[in-house]
Amino acid sequence: MRLPLIAGNWKMNTTVTEAVALVKEMWGGLDEVKNVEKVVCPPFVSLPAVRDLLKGTSIKLGAQNLYFEEKGAYTGEVSPLMLAELCEYVIIGHSERRQYFNETGEIVNKKFKAALKAGLKPILCVGEKLEENEAGKTEEVVTGQIKSSLAGISYTPSLVIAYEPIWAIGTGKAATSQQANDTIGLIRRTVSGMYGKEAAQSVRILYGGSVNAANATELMLQPEIDGALVGGASLKASDFVSIVRQTSAIKK
Ligand code: PEP
Repeated sequence: MRLPLIAGNWKMNTTVTEAVALVKEMWGGLDEVKNVEKVVCPPFVSLPAVRDLLKGTSIKLGAQNLYFEEKGAYTGEVSPLMLAELCEYVIIGHSERRQYFNETGEIVNKKFKAALKAGLKPILCVGEKLEENEAGKTEEVVTGQIKSSLAGISYTPSLVIAYEPIWAIGTGKAATSQQANDTIGLIRRTVSGMYGKEAAQSVRILYGGSVNAANATELMLQPEIDGALVGGASLKASDFVSIVRQTSAIKK
């Protein structure tokens, strides 16, 4: 049995004041759901305030990115050691970072190693572009990303993978539940090839890309899908709580 995980990626939204208000609006509804792991990932600057608010609740905190060095002359960057004092999870390799900040597979791999070394739980994002999808290259792209991101890394039970087709992120056009389930099944087979069947059965693989309160149940019902990485809908407390509640109601 894999414990479902719903993570909210707030991206570059909310000031500290707004982040505090948003958490206050959602934490009661989230906290009462016990059979789903809940994670919120606000911007770096809000992590301390949100951590203080979430103390004593079952809601976990994550960062959206990190740098792979522990400390030093890297102006503007945030290190794994700094994050490890504040949060439990960290999103790595989000497509927006690959696209706008030129993060390559090699950089993602370094970040992944650095996160594990600091004791952070990585949520590794992979996913294909629209043109790759249309050219039938989803399998090649996604398995390539998994292999390069995890190169030289032994299996860790804290690994979470998020399959996020780029064409579905922030577009309002989610993958169909069948598409998402099929690609996540493929990712699980890739993990099996790299780390064995037991690892493949225990690794949690989330779907991300326009998940909302209207499509969550359909997606979360799929046998291969273990939860969701939610962008836009995680900024609306009632929607995010609804996605968590819908996930909690599903018996697989
Ligand atoms: C994301 O950024 O990880 C994401 C899935 O965004 P959205 O839910 O807005 O598509």
